[in-house]
Amino acid sequence: MSSPRIEVDVSKVRHNTRTIVGRLNARGISVTGVTKAVCGHPIIARAMLDSGVAGLAEARLSNVQRLRKAGVTCPITFIRTPMLSQADDVVRVCEASYNTEMTVIAALAAAAIRQNKVHGVILMVEMGDRREGIMPKDLGDIALQVVNMPGVALKGIGANFACLSGIAPNAANMQTLSALANNVEGQCGPFLQTVSGGNSANLPWALEGNATGRINDLRIGEAILLGSDPISGDQIGGMFRDAFTLVAEVVETDVNSVRPSLSFADAKLAKLCLVPNPGDTTRRILAIGHQDTDILGLSMPDGNVLIGATSDHIVIGTKHATLRVGSEMRFQMKYSALMRAMAAPDVEIKLLHDGATRHRRGIQGTGGHLGLV
Ligand SMILES: *Cc1c(COP(=O)(O)O)cnc(C)c1O
Repeated sequence: MSSPRIEVDVSKVRHNTRTIVGRLNARGISVTGVTKAVCGHPIIARAMLDSGVAGLAEARLSNVQRLRKAGVTCPITFIRTPMLSQADDVVRVCEASYNTEMTVIAALAAAAIRQNKVHGVILMVEMGDRREGIMPKDLGDIALQVVNMPGVALKGIGANFACLSGIAPNAANMQTLSALANNVEGQCGPFLQTVSGGNSANLPWALEGNATGRINDLRIGEAILLGSDPISGDQIGGMFRDAFTLVAEVVETDVNSVRPSLSFADAKLAKLCLVPNPGDTTRRILAIGHQDTDILGLSMPDGNVLIGATSDHIVIGTKHATLRVGSEMRFQMKYSALMRAMAAPDVEIKLLHDGATRHRRGIQGTGGHLGLV
């Protein structure tokens, strides 16, 4: 098997999806599966779809095109405000998109008319994250313009939290979003099909038993893929954290760990040298680096410390007996590491339990592993 590689246990992605879908559906909330961290990988998307997500969402056109080429026909919503230059392609491959700019919406409408389609528009509202969004005071007017524009249909509103500014979703801001949905309907008439409360960071709010009001959709990527709450980093009960594992190969071991002391010319590199090579450890060098993943987003196995990294290497101090050259180390990844590794050309993606083997006994039965909750 070649390395570096990501091993994806697709049965764990299915289990995580089913768990989240079950808990959220019970609260009247559907799940839109977000595939951008896996670059729109069709098998992983299929695992989400087989496990109950209502549709998919993507931030990049190339990922949507990859899904469509693989024969995925479900509704796909574009969740990054489309670039003006992409309007035609977005309309061609996505049923709907999140939008904040009238200029872009007008271009989508023109493209839809040319393609003899109606493109769904969900308006993203700014509720404190300070990334994209329409100010709540302007929402009604913009919604009215969308309603009156041929080629597009107002499908809903949405908000995003905990991405740029770290503002967390809570009972108060979810109530505000519900109220905005009611106001928009009061002002423009049509029933808003989708009121999308946010992303994985909304799960604590959604699962704590708060009133859900008008919120009937969440866009979930990280929690399905990594089984964790993005704000606290904690495991979500009943979910697998190890659906994805990064495997890298040892290219140098160093029993004699005495090295000249390091001096960094670049402050950024110095920052990455997290620990001076501790005296009682030996070093090992792995053939993976910044070009392949976010090194700081890798969890070091117990007894190992990250000494530093360069574009193509990581240096690890270990108390364990030295691994031989050619042996492999396995890492769990945070979101940033997963996202980069999935997109890296030199990282192979190895699917396990991917449905081709689904009929085999034991593979689907994840119940036995639930001890790790
Ligand atoms: C990435 C993204 C999501 C999904 O976020 P997760 O934390 O992975 O659940 C949802 N909405 C928007 C707009 C996004 O960009």
